[in-house]
Amino acid sequence: MSDMKAFDPIRRAAELGMALPAFNIPYLPMMEPVVQAIVDQDCFALIATARLEWYKFEARSLYAVAEAYRRWARPGYTWLHLDHVPVIDEDGAEVDFLPTIAAAIAEGYQSVMVDGSRLGLEDNIAATGEVVALAQEAGVPCEAELGAVLGHEAGPLPPYEELFASGQGFTGVEEARRFVSETGCDWLSVAIGNIHGAISGAQRDAKKVEARLQLEHLEALRDATGVPLVLHGGSSVRQEYLLAAIPRGIAKVNIGTEIRQAYEQAMRAELGEAAAQQATYERTCWVLRDYFQMAGTRVRFLEANGAG
Ligand SMILES: [Zn+2]
Repeated sequence: MSDMKAFDPIRRAAELGMALPAFNIPYLPMMEPVVQAIVDQDCFALIATARLEWYKFEARSLYAVAEAYRRWARPGYTWLHLDHVPVIDEDGAEVDFLPTIAAAIAEGYQSVMVDGSRLGLEDNIAATGEVVALAQEAGVPCEAELGAVLGHEAGPLPPYEELFASGQGFTGVEEARRFVSETGCDWLSVAIGNIHGAISGAQRDAKKVEARLQLEHLEALRDATGVPLVLHGGSSVRQEYLLAAIPRGIAKVNIGTEIRQAYEQAMRAELGEAAAQQATYERTCWVLRDYFQMAGTRVRFLEANGAG
């Protein structure tokens, strides 16, 4: 059956048993080498920016990122995604999330994310539902988050092993079932042991802990929701867990810290912007070729017939 809905790369990836990385751009000069790496590795991948990358890093605005994207993007290789627009941000402030997301859609972002994960379940459902309605009208897939993918907040995290063993903050299976059916979100970001790279203060430069994933819990979430699942904090997940998560429902993986730190380390060493871009390029190639093992998959991905 042909599918009248607009192309949804993450749904397609899920149908093919693949996961697409979404590369975050906290510094505008990272756009060119990230796109070039995607092209050179012959992959299809997402370019993403989150609200905190305009405020806490140097991406400036959703408009500046879209402009850089239009300059460097290669049709048939890349897709522009709006990452985390929180309803309540990492500092506890309320965000004008609806106008921000509407502006992004008008600017040409091809998919969006609303993050109501700092709200209670009812409020998260309500806020997410509003964004899904807006996105659906524009024919744009909408990602949402349920559960607590920690790491963006200031202050130290509880010890990782404690978090993992207790399942504290993990996305609940019955909550996820209800959340997806009531909001109609297209993709769901889940907490299954993954954590974001720290962004505050000195922790920003810290090596991320090597995260593991609760794979049985992931399968239960996939079966309960029926939508492609998203893994945030992807660059710190041990590779065997990443590769095991893909056939269990993860179809999009956010990559932020890995390539950000490559860029920042070169800049801090005063090697110059070109060297920082080269470091970004090499790290992005490594992510695609070695970590995801997806070099050369682009044509197969684009030509596959979605199950419709
Ligand atoms: Zn995230």
